[in-house]
Amino acid sequence: MTVLRRSYRRRASAVDLVWGPMAIAPDNKDWTWVLERPCPECGFDARDVIVRNMPSQLHELIRSWQEVLLRDDVAQRGSPDKWSPLEYSCHVRDVFRLFDQRLESMVAQDGARFDNWDQDKTAVEERYELQDPSAVSQELVDAGTSLATRFAHIEASQWGHRGIRSDGSTFSVSTFAIYLAHDPIHHLWDVGQA
Ligand SMILES: [Zn+2]
Repeated sequence: MTVLRRSYRRRASAVDLVWGPMAIAPDNKDWTWVLERPCPECGFDARDVIVRNMPSQLHELIRSWQEVLLRDDVAQRGSPDKWSPLEYSCHVRDVFRLFDQRLESMVAQDGARFDNWDQDKTAVEERYELQDPSAVSQELVDAGTSLATRFAHIEASQWGHRGIRSDGSTFSVSTFAIYLAHDPIHHLWDVGQA
């Protein structure tokens, strides 16, 4: 889902230390449509999601991403305009972390508000391409497990709690769960692990 401007991949160099290895075009897609129709790429269909099963679904996704991070070529981009499996894994870890915080806010307060998250800027600032796959794997397990545990403790009345994004998108905890579930599934498709 992320489009990169740079059309090649190379080893880190002195230039990278100043500019980073890639400039990333902002992802301005509004992915909320996934709540209304199946994804034409990964096949995700919101109608198949049972939000009360989020904990087990998340544990399954964690296992799939751990497998991705064991690949010998995890840091290599298969295509120059897409993140490597390592970069996607860092993204998924950060999605788990962010959504865990957001879910905590929504559960605590009906009508919680969120700032927009610039995922592409984060990837550059955090140097996703240089991160250690085994460390990312453990962090992804920790973040995903925390999120799964939070979902496991949602009470019936809290599934309707609302969250409001700075762009005006409004979610309930239920639709937030579906929106969240698509992200790591879609990226498994991106890295050929679906
Ligand atoms: Zn998809």
